[in-house]
Amino acid sequence: MKISAENLTKTYGKGDGQVYALRNVSLEINPGDFISIMGPSGSGKSTLLHLLSGLDKPSSGQLNYDGIDIYSLSDKKLAAFRRRKIGFVFQQFNLLPPLDALENICMPLLLDKRQPDADYLNRLCGLLGIADRLRHLPHELSGGQKQRVAIARALITQPEVIFADEPTGNLDSQSGGEVMALLRQIHQQTGQTLVIITHDPQIAGLAQRRLQIIDGQLSEQISVQEA
Ligand code: ADP
Repeated sequence: MKISAENLTKTYGKGDGQVYALRNVSLEINPGDFISIMGPSGSGKSTLLHLLSGLDKPSSGQLNYDGIDIYSLSDKKLAAFRRRKIGFVFQQFNLLPPLDALENICMPLLLDKRQPDADYLNRLCGLLGIADRLRHLPHELSGGQKQRVAIARALITQPEVIFADEPTGNLDSQSGGEVMALLRQIHQQTGQTLVIITHDPQIAGLAQRRLQIIDGQLSEQISVQEA
């Protein structure tokens, strides 16, 4: 799916206290792109990811997925669109504590009254190295395992686009490296679009396109070969 964002602006608050989290951001994302987004804390990275994924709506601007203006969809239709087309990986994992790993992974399908494809589920859990942890509750898992469960949950619907908001931010460097290697491998194998926020220049360097946000304004870094 081609994603086209035009003049996305997000403000919080009113009057003197108004904050511009994002200013007139325009961006085209092509199917299969691997994009990293860097920028100082508070520069607007999470806001941009939330707007691009339809988790939040802008104060002004447009977002089209293959020509569909997704902010014009009803809340119910937007939620269904997000569940089917978009996977989101959070820094804080956001697993539901009373549900075991398998139940967490299958939740997006259950919300759509769908059953997991057993072959795909097995392959996914094998690839992510969590096949023997599926009956454990989140508090029984390490940080790296929790994030791998969260990645499985993001991928169970075979979404076309994966957004990841500092997926290694809460992990030690070894688990973070493993999680990042898995995301990269999945992107290479499936051709799914991957958009990732990171503080880590090494991770950002893996991406084909590198974006930077400063004070809510987006710029793209052109690699030396292209310049
Ligand atoms: P980053 O992800 O780069 O750390 P954010 O997108 O979280 O930055 O935030 C961008 C700016 O918007 C910051 O100044 C932040 O304080 C502000 N902001 C984010 N969310 C809210 C909110 N819900 N209410 C008020 N201000 C917010």
